[in-house]
Amino acid sequence: MASGVTFRIILATGNLGKLRELQNLLGEQFELVPQAELKISSIEETGRTFTQNALLKARHASAESGLPAIADDSGLEVDALGGAPGIRSARYAGSEATDEENNRKLLAELGACPEVERTARFRSSIVYVRAPDDPEPFIAEGVWEGRILDAPRGTGGFGYDPLFLDESAGLTGGELDPDDKNRRSHRGQAARRLSELLVMGQIDANLD
Ligand code: IMP
Repeated sequence: MASGVTFRIILATGNLGKLRELQNLLGEQFELVPQAELKISSIEETGRTFTQNALLKARHASAESGLPAIADDSGLEVDALGGAPGIRSARYAGSEATDEENNRKLLAELGACPEVERTARFRSSIVYVRAPDDPEPFIAEGVWEGRILDAPRGTGGFGYDPLFLDESAGLTGGELDPDDKNRRSHRGQAARRLSELLVMGQIDANLD
């Protein structure tokens, strides 16, 4: 990619925090356009994995915008619950569930499950498509291992953060400062991997 050229990519998320985070990693050569700016419609997440859902969103945003697209999908997998809530993390306690309701449901499902069996991980998949029908999308994944506590700790972060203990830090996602969370987290890992590849020009800007 020639230097000085700004490369426009649509980011299929409504979350401005994610946009800022990724934009900082990518630098000025890439201009991330929020999908709201181009009035991209939302699409049902019918995939069975985080990557399938991210690809659905990215291909859809690329089709509607005519731009290359980035999309992400993430969630929490709890071993004692067979991997739930997984791709249903955002709507675990119902389609309009709040973070608090989801956390309450998670604690109820785990019940008296002993500490050693409360292992869990966040997963993030961030994908990049050059066009809606890109046959070789780039897929960057990140995993953050931890354990589910029996009561929330901390007020930072979002989602399941107050219940998710990073054992090496001895802190929950709700207690870690945002930079530290970003260094450790599933999404931070996936975003850095994707940005390295984009910045290093390992992904062709255009389909032949
Ligand atoms: P999305 O990929 O941003 O839609 O995230 C799906 C759901 O997974 C969120 O609504 C949260 O419940 C959960 N989740 C994803 N990443 C995190 C995180 O870093 N901390 C806490 N919860 C998360």
